Amino acid sequence: MNLIGIIILIALSLNLLLNILAEVLNLRRQTSEPPAGFEAVYSPEKYRRSQAYLKTRTRFGCSVALFDLALLLLFWLTGGFDFLDQWVRQWSYGPVLSGMLYIGIILGAKSLCGQPFSLYSMFVIEARFGFNTATLGTFVADRFKGLLLAIVIGGPVLAGVLAFFEYAGSNAWWLCWLAVTLFILGLQYIAPTWIMPLFNKFEPLEEGQLKESILALAKRADYPLKNVLAMDGSRRSTKSNAFFTGFGKNKRIALFDKLIDQHTIPEMIAVLAHEIGHFKRHHIKQMLAASILQMGLLLLLLSFCLSFQGLYDAFFLTHPSVYTGILVFALLFAPLDFFLGLVMHSLSRRNEYEADRLPWRSPAIRRL
Ligand SMILES: [Zn+2]
Repeated sequence: MNLIGIIILIALSLNLLLNILAEVLNLRRQTSEPPAGFEAVYSPEKYRRSQAYLKTRTRFGCSVALFDLALLLLFWLTGGFDFLDQWVRQWSYGPVLSGMLYIGIILGAKSLCGQPFSLYSMFVIEARFGFNTATLGTFVADRFKGLLLAIVIGGPVLAGVLAFFEYAGSNAWWLCWLAVTLFILGLQYIAPTWIMPLFNKFEPLEEGQLKESILALAKRADYPLKNVLAMDGSRRSTKSNAFFTGFGKNKRIALFDKLIDQHTIPEMIAVLAHEIGHFKRHHIKQMLAASILQMGLLLLLLSFCLSFQGLYDAFFLTHPSVYTGILVFALLFAPLDFFLGLVMHSLSRRNEYEADRLPWRSPAIRRL
């Protein structure tokens, strides 16, 4: 293995160690009693249960990350990247189709290896804490729909990226950036109307006090709300959530059915007021812009890396190509993402506080 390989190996290991260390520090800050001021809303028993859940989830997350790294090292150090490349090359499909086959096989195999963990997470951990409501049928159907989406949406994107870097020379990175950006923006439009209904049912919220309170909140905050929907989140989990979809004057709020069952109207208004706060302070656009910027930076870095022979040698690849270059570059992403993540996390932390500091929450909520 060359020096580049050793550096990548150390970076990947350090990245994992640092993440585990952060989790350990986080767990060590746990207290057995609810923090002062929360006694009224959190019973000590419920609080301890939430801490136990956090502990279990953290341990599980660390085990999965360790397994993933072990699997990668095994594939890498036994020459798997080159072996698969030789196999794909024998069919002479040309650079784009070969690349799709190569990357598709690796992503497919990785996803297959992850399925036992997903099963355990859902039917053992989530079930133990009383969260899971999904049947095995729902689990399997979700996987198939996910696979179909990956092929229908991910396939053309991958083909586009491969073609740009194969044929557009030094302009490839920014042409690719432009295309991917347009694609991401387009996805924001089709996701709520085309993709989400594949997984859940959305129905207009029935008339009543809840709907009136939400519409009144939207009016107070001058938020162009068009519709309030209820989503059958209880098909998979007893956890509850709410999210906003839609654009311009056509905004909608979707509430998980469990949120409606388990919370009082003032509590729900508090949640929605926080979300409207994000919208009012343009956090959603800001985060989207930040991720588009990050994408551009990555594509620029990728374009430098593709012509760097040392990178291919590090992974024992005998034929440098765009698709193997993209794949090994993706492996470098984890350590790189750690540093970009620091910026994104501090931004999102600031935004969370800012979203709470807005004036249109009802007087009753402000007292909470
Ligand atoms: Zn928030």
